[in-house]
Amino acid sequence: MSRKLRVGIIGGGIGGAALSGALTQRGFETRIFERADAFGEVGAGIQMTPNAVKVLRALGLMDKLSQAGFLPHAIVGRNWRTARENFRTPLIEDCPRLYGAPFVHIHRADLHSMLVSLVPESSATLSTACTGIRQDGKTAVASFADGSEFEADVIVGADGVRSTVRNALFGDEEPRFTGNMCYRAVVPVDGVVDFVSPDSSFWLGPHGHVVTYYVRGGKAVNIVAVSETANWVEESWNAPSSRDEMLAAYQGWHSNIIRLFERVEHVFKWGLFDRDPMTTWSSGRVTLLGDAAHPMLPFLSQGAAMAIEDAYVLATTLDAHGPDYATALQDYEAERLPRTSRVQLEARERGKTYHLPSPLAQAKRDLVYWIKGKLNPQKTGLQANWVYDYDATAFQPQPALKSVA
Ligand SMILES: Cc1cc2nc3c(=O)[nH]c(=O)nc-3n(C[C@H](O)[C@H](O)[C@H](O)COP(=O)(O)OP(=O)(O)OC[C@H]3O[C@@H](n4cnc5c(N)ncnc54)[C@H](O)[C@@H]3O)c2cc1C
Repeated sequence: MSRKLRVGIIGGGIGGAALSGALTQRGFETRIFERADAFGEVGAGIQMTPNAVKVLRALGLMDKLSQAGFLPHAIVGRNWRTARENFRTPLIEDCPRLYGAPFVHIHRADLHSMLVSLVPESSATLSTACTGIRQDGKTAVASFADGSEFEADVIVGADGVRSTVRNALFGDEEPRFTGNMCYRAVVPVDGVVDFVSPDSSFWLGPHGHVVTYYVRGGKAVNIVAVSETANWVEESWNAPSSRDEMLAAYQGWHSNIIRLFERVEHVFKWGLFDRDPMTTWSSGRVTLLGDAAHPMLPFLSQGAAMAIEDAYVLATTLDAHGPDYATALQDYEAERLPRTSRVQLEARERGKTYHLPSPLAQAKRDLVYWIKGKLNPQKTGLQANWVYDYDATAFQPQPALKSVA
């Protein structure tokens, strides 16, 4: 039997932890390097759509996900001022039937800690920031800010939107500010309240939208409030904000939104950045995964889902091709790059549709939503049925590319 490759993972976020878990499940020796001094996540919610849930189930996390999650009834589009429904995509009964897995809302910290539970303790190194990558024909080497180095057969950059590994492979290029910022907050509640429906609610307004949904079994509501803005002045990626700033930015919005925002205690504002799709993610023995490869706007709720799918497919190809890392990385890209590129571009497009400024354009859009909803409610609104349908756990490496080693 051929030796399993030694894999180094840079970044212990959602994608890095998922990759470590998927490789460990297949008997690989991995090492994961995280620059923060503890594994952690921002205080916010995350939507795990059926395509991501299929992977989490294959990683053995379904019980934990069910305990910590919330099952939304539907994705509902609403008018920002009147709360009138623009579209309704049923989820709770339809997702398992149509896509083979539920749609789950969860706190990011809960999701991350269940992924980190798959990472063997001995394989994680914290407080270690990668500063560079070099490679020759035989190995790849990551170097770190403390002067240490790590040598591996394959190195994976799962180090987020401002990826050091990506810069080392393809040159320094700043991510693109998309013209959108958002406020993120989690509001504790005593179970489902009358001003927040048990759905993934998309409130569509001029030059912005607000998404609300329950997490933690219905004990908290997550808010993502997006606004278009010409400039993002903060140097950092996120910055503290306040309830008053948030209320001022959404004056005139429906009273349910205002009632929810009035309960906000802690809020951060974020600049939203993305990049154009790439033509390749790999060079030699090094490749990229998640936001390092394909950062996207969160308008289809897919950034973490794509990182989780990438992780599973990469673990599958590395396992299938034995020592032939080159074919494994080629096979990984062939499967993942077209899909993630489409999601990146469609997420940008959704922003334009959600944020239409003129009432006439909004009325036309809502008529289209209504007609599409009558024909097939899964194909209106976000129009993400093709995203949810995909099953990374059913992926088979191409026979033509299979290693003969
Ligand atoms: C407002 C908002 C809402 C979102 N909602 C959703 C949603 O509902 N569903 C969904 O699927 N996605 C959502 N996303 C997207 C999702 O958050 C990201 O796509 C996802 O976190 C990407 O995971 P990642 O592991 O690739 O990167 P990250 O989560 O950014 O992790 C990268 C890790 O690498 C570490 N790191 C960075 N540089 C180095 C270095 N040099 N050395 C060592 N470690 C390093 C970082 O500390 C971090 O831990 C949302 C994003 C935003 C902004």
